[in-house]
Amino acid sequence: MIAVEEERLARLQRDHLLLCRALAMDDGGCLYLVDKEQLVDVTAEMAAAHGESPRGTRQGESDRMSRRRLRSVRDHVYEGRGTGGPRRFGWYGPDVATGRSTNTILDPRESVHLRSAIDMALAGTSWTAITDWLTEKSVPTVRGSRWTVATVQSMVTNPAVCGYRMVSGELARHRDSGRPVVGTWQTVATPEEWLRLVERCGRWHSPGGHRSTYKQDQSSRSIRPGAAERARKRIEAVDLGRKYLLSGFLLCGFPGEDGSKCGCKMGGQPARGTNKHPSYRCVAAKCRKVGRRTDLVDAHVAAVALGALEERYGDTEPDETAFPAEERLAELRAVQNPTEPTRMQLHDLEQDRADFHARQEDRNLLARFRRDRWAAFDIRQKRLVLAAVVQSVVIRPVPKNRTRNAPFDPDLIEVVLKAR
Ligand SMILES: [Zn+2]
Repeated sequence: MIAVEEERLARLQRDHLLLCRALAMDDGGCLYLVDKEQLVDVTAEMAAAHGESPRGTRQGESDRMSRRRLRSVRDHVYEGRGTGGPRRFGWYGPDVATGRSTNTILDPRESVHLRSAIDMALAGTSWTAITDWLTEKSVPTVRGSRWTVATVQSMVTNPAVCGYRMVSGELARHRDSGRPVVGTWQTVATPEEWLRLVERCGRWHSPGGHRSTYKQDQSSRSIRPGAAERARKRIEAVDLGRKYLLSGFLLCGFPGEDGSKCGCKMGGQPARGTNKHPSYRCVAAKCRKVGRRTDLVDAHVAAVALGALEERYGDTEPDETAFPAEERLAELRAVQNPTEPTRMQLHDLEQDRADFHARQEDRNLLARFRRDRWAAFDIRQKRLVLAAVVQSVVIRPVPKNRTRNAPFDPDLIEVVLKAR
């Protein structure tokens, strides 16, 4: 494989390593970088990824690539230019016709909301209250998702609001004066205000650089290969550790004045005080008006879902596709006295195979579905199969004329099934 420009070959370190892995599979596979007039030692790259490069001679290769990418970001920063990246809430995106680059000119509508959120944060308003305010105003986020405390904190404390910028968790400063570089884009806050904001919440953007920021953690995590697989396992572990079957599925059905519904998520909470049973409750600070016993809701929703699962998946066949690299794996296993690269290839491929089968097994939970299998599922598996048929579950409030101890009424639970 010949790459004209190294920087364009793989944007992520992980992709670079996957490429090296793929090339190393073939005895004749190699990578030549034209801009460097350099042949890359793909096996050494793999070894570096395995953390088995004792002399560290080639291990620098990966670090060097990360550094180079960082340097090009830095050069932009010191010139006060933006560095591309996704559009930030409050600024316009790019416009080819006028030559406007992204995040330079304020969007008059969004920036007013951004500034109001900053004012509220400076005045000590809670992050939850600011989040609720943006939600109530129906202000759309950049990606169209819901506002969360995390997005609001990150947006409000982003150094870009005052023209500053951080690279690898450190404030970009002029080399000579040491003063922070001020970008050429339009801003909504002063540096003094920003400092007060990060003092209140340094979780996302910490100016001192002594705390590792969330972004830094993310990038260093994503460098190693297998990060995607590990991330998947982490998610699986989280799902397995869940206490409540339906969290994420439930929506609050409390009616508003205009006939709309609250629509906020409902989360599980343990028994406490006068509530003798664990319950699902609306999580919105402005509502919290609907709650219901978890065991009764779970049983009702499961009954509805199991019927749909049998009907839709009772006749489906399991996917029994074999792992596509089975042959290559057999070859590698048969090698006598394997060399180090062969050992690594074998290890990676065995892991791929395990991942392939884990995913296949998950998909096959639905095949020839029968309700008597349900009881043997763990909570992660239950949630997986539920997600195949259940879109959401709306819980309506108990009518006012009923007492607190009125029996559970399944008619108040609306299970919305996914379209087939
Ligand atoms: Zn609610």
